[in-house]
Amino acid sequence: MKSVTAGGRIVCLRCNAMSKRTRVQCGGPAVRSKTKCRFHGGRSTGPVTEQGKQRSAQAKTIHGNDTRLDRQVNRLDMKRLRLYARILGVPFRSDVGDKRL
Ligand SMILES: [Zn+2]
Repeated sequence: MKSVTAGGRIVCLRCNAMSKRTRVQCGGPAVRSKTKCRFHGGRSTGPVTEQGKQRSAQAKTIHGNDTRLDRQVNRLDMKRLRLYARILGVPFRSDVGDKRL
């Protein structure tokens, strides 16, 4: 069944999910080339195959704003700073454990 949205400018499938409680079909527009709306599982649920999961794990940021590459670069930069601090003989913040330094 077709659903019309955006003031009649977009015609798409209507989500065919049915409410368990009211037994009424969802009225939302289905995600493109899918039969469910974004609330009822129309969007991707992630990689399925083992190969796809590995590829996703390689590319995906685990948490925070940085990618793995960014964190690795930061780690190396901090290592370099620690080395410079040791050469100069000044205390390095995380080595001393004092956040005020
Ligand atoms: Zn729906």
